Amino acid sequence: MKIYKGEGVSRGVAFGKINLYEKAAAAAEKYTVENTENEIARFENARAQAIAQLALLFTKTKESLGEENSLLFQIHQMMLEDLDYCDSVKEIIRGEKVNAEYAVSETAARFAEMFATMEDEYMKGRAADVRDVSGRVLDILTGGGKEKTILQQPYILVAEDLAPSETAQLDKTYVQAFVTAGGSRNSHTAIFARTMGIPAVIGLEGALQNLPDGADCIVDGAAGEVYVEPDQETAARLRKKQEAEQARKKLLSLYKDRPTQTKDGKKTELCANIGNLNDLQFALDNGAEGIGLFRSEFLYLESTDYPTEEAQFTVYKTALQKMAGKRVVIRTLDIGADKQAAYFDLPKEENPAMGMRAIRICLTRPAVFETQLRALYRSSAYGRLAILLPMITSVEEVRRVKEIAAGVQRRLEEENIPFAPDVELGVMIETPAAAVISDLLAKEVDLFSVGTNDLTQYTLAADRQNQSIAQFCDTHHPALLRLIRLSADNIHKEGKWIGICGELGADESLAETFMRMGIDELSVTPTAILPLRAAIAELDLSNEEEKQ
Ligand code: PEP
Ligand code: MG
Repeated sequence: MKIYKGEGVSRGVAFGKINLYEKAAAAAEKYTVENTENEIARFENARAQAIAQLALLFTKTKESLGEENSLLFQIHQMMLEDLDYCDSVKEIIRGEKVNAEYAVSETAARFAEMFATMEDEYMKGRAADVRDVSGRVLDILTGGGKEKTILQQPYILVAEDLAPSETAQLDKTYVQAFVTAGGSRNSHTAIFARTMGIPAVIGLEGALQNLPDGADCIVDGAAGEVYVEPDQETAARLRKKQEAEQARKKLLSLYKDRPTQTKDGKKTELCANIGNLNDLQFALDNGAEGIGLFRSEFLYLESTDYPTEEAQFTVYKTALQKMAGKRVVIRTLDIGADKQAAYFDLPKEENPAMGMRAIRICLTRPAVFETQLRALYRSSAYGRLAILLPMITSVEEVRRVKEIAAGVQRRLEEENIPFAPDVELGVMIETPAAAVISDLLAKEVDLFSVGTNDLTQYTLAADRQNQSIAQFCDTHHPALLRLIRLSADNIHKEGKWIGICGELGADESLAETFMRMGIDELSVTPTAILPLRAAIAELDLSNEEEKQ
């Protein structure tokens, strides 16, 4: 047995076999072969496997995200069945006497180039698809992306790091835990693991080298420990820990339908952060009083082209209907920095976290933004919607958004498309600038939500993705707490409400501080709702003010 230690970022104990997730090489190596028919058979075999994977993904996505969002996988399937595509691969193999990997990657490049030069915008967009689907075949040919081959049993996913788009596209049916070499507590993979209630350990140096593919493994998310080929005694001890964890969950379930209030009756609202409709079910199962943050960018990350107005409308409408009149705060797309979608074709930047991201993209690409706003306003006819703007730094930005939103509403009216007249507009406090001018912003919008993940990184100048500077990133830093208090005071003076939707909102040791500030809502990963409600129920604020 070997024990490795990293940082536990999502609690729970998981058992499974290790599945190494290695990214396929960008361009395949070229070498000559004697037996070209053998290469063609390898290609045919990989193609058949890829088609089977896509069929499975199509069914799963259709169930969770609806028909529109799953169509992509059908298009990919059709591409692999296209005769021209297959003939091109075979001709390259036979004509140049080369390996299948090279022929696939060369065909992908030629087809992508052909699509990219077409007039029609839709066909242009297919360039990314042909690259994507060829990557899938290459993964199979090179033995990368092994997650697909041991899909049928529970496994522990081990990776160097996982980009949000990769996490979003993973088939999660059998993932029992995540272990990564990189990452950080507030990275989206960690957030995703907590949302799903999957144990996760990050910052485990040499993970890919030390954790052998296929080995038996136990992950203890709370302790940040990973056991490879555990002995019987360890397995029994951790089985007990897993049972205790389950018993704790049962106890907490008593809080599911209770209001969130302290012993002396001071209330707040406890809502959930979600990234898609699957998470919404976790939110409901855990007694969420609303959705405090719907990270809509995951819709963009889960697809290989801009999601259409119709596709977005279906998802937003379903979320509002499922929440049955409870407020659903949907954040407009927060693409950029670590959340990259290739088809946005964002410029390569030295400091992407401080670059073209979130609201900056929306304001410079109004067509993309207007499509999302149309979908949002249309969905507002089906429930209680609030729209939240990420990465705001100035009053002018908010005013420009209000103008664009007014235009969208006007056009909907002209087209006789219904939408609610009272959709609330909110601003995220994610930059020190927004906190400092929160008095001015409070005159412009209805509500606020503090994104402590970004507010921390921008206040302390500490990159949230960089594990090596974790020691300089004090999430209880007085500067951060003062900015939150200042915002709360300014916003309450204008009679508006303020929530916290960053990870700090779930920090039980700050629950008293936030309750005393009068924070109106805490929005946390679904699995944090019940423990936090239980912790708040233990507080008594009738005694003297806590010392700061
Ligand atoms: C935040 O920054 O705290 C936040 C909630 O947004 P995200 O984590 O998606 O950047
Ligand atoms: Mg943020």
